[in-house]
Amino acid sequence: MRVFISGAAGFLGSHLTDRLIKEGHTVIGLDNFITGNRANLAHLADNPKFSLMEQDVSKFIAVDGELNFVLHLASPASPSKSSPLGYPNLPIQTMKAGALGTHNTLGLAKIHNAQFLLASTSEVYGDPLVHPQPESYWGNCDPVGVRSVYDEAKRFAEALTMAYHNFHGLDTRIVRIFNTFGPRMRLDDGRSVPNFIQQALRGESLTIYGTGEQTRSFCYVDDLIDGIRLLMDSDEHMPVNIGNPQEVSIIEFAVRINELTGNTAGLQINASERLGDDPERRQPDITRAKTILGWEPRVSLRDGLSETIDYMRMKMENNLS
Ligand code: NAD
Ligand code: UDP
Repeated sequence: MRVFISGAAGFLGSHLTDRLIKEGHTVIGLDNFITGNRANLAHLADNPKFSLMEQDVSKFIAVDGELNFVLHLASPASPSKSSPLGYPNLPIQTMKAGALGTHNTLGLAKIHNAQFLLASTSEVYGDPLVHPQPESYWGNCDPVGVRSVYDEAKRFAEALTMAYHNFHGLDTRIVRIFNTFGPRMRLDDGRSVPNFIQQALRGESLTIYGTGEQTRSFCYVDDLIDGIRLLMDSDEHMPVNIGNPQEVSIIEFAVRINELTGNTAGLQINASERLGDDPERRQPDITRAKTILGWEPRVSLRDGLSETIDYMRMKMENNLS
């Protein structure tokens, strides 16, 4: 296949690019590096199966020649209000990537008669009132809340994807990604995983926003990429949750990281850093992924964290982000 990936320099986009190239496909990546990292693609610089368009996805995109698959991953993804890479600090760019970027990449797929995949998110469920979250749940979102620039852009993106499917007959997929972590996350994007691991490796106490009783379910990146590949090869058009159903409180998660790094500095409650509509509980119902794709995660939290800690230690020792 000749595949187009927006957000190719990001955490997930670069792993997906690697997977597809390893399988023998050709990848055209697009990125404007607003939250991405050139280092994530450096190893592909001389690979004839990879090329990069340095461009904003919310501007018109032209690609010559055949395209078989278009994947739209470009979007800020961190909810941090203290990192400049967090979407609360990139509100218009986030809405444009989800709205105009989805329109442009759908248009690109349509003109090339290519298949299309949208990277959506568990954030479409907002602060969920149904637990765990199945795809049939409509969500609990505040359209003007602090997370709305991300949530509503992704909800619009899903609606536009379905409109192209239903009206133009485009062959589309929607993956709802739950918290995913692993090597190539940026150390400075303010998400819980890089924050906690860096604090632990520096021997500092880990900053818990709010009470720390809020939960998340963390999926290792290799499992997530397996799920996306299976979804690409399926003929499922309705949204599919991909995530690890092992739910942990943020306190439990932070304690695990302290244990794995041997950090004895403990935890520090930082209530004021918590975003207003930070979801209380989040856990994917993966029945559809299991049934339709035969997918379920295989990597344990311990193994995934160990890989990520090794990666972040290497970055810190070399003063890299
Ligand atoms: P990331 O920030 O590492 O990657 C996003 C990439 O998109 C970056 O390289 C960034 O520079 C690029 N980008 C952003 N806006 C752009 C624009 N206007 N034009 C061109 N490029 C642009 O984040 P990630 O974690 O890899 O997330 C990738 C996708 O997966 C996002 O759409 C995100 O919403 C979705 N997602 C991720 C998670 C997760 O836990 N990692 C969870 C749910 C959804
Ligand atoms: N969080 C935290 N300390 C940090 C960063 C995040 O306690 O240094 C909390 C955050 O408030 C949220 C959870 O950890 O409740 C997961 O946050 P993350 O940044 O991973 O993304 P989210 O799941 O909220 O999109």
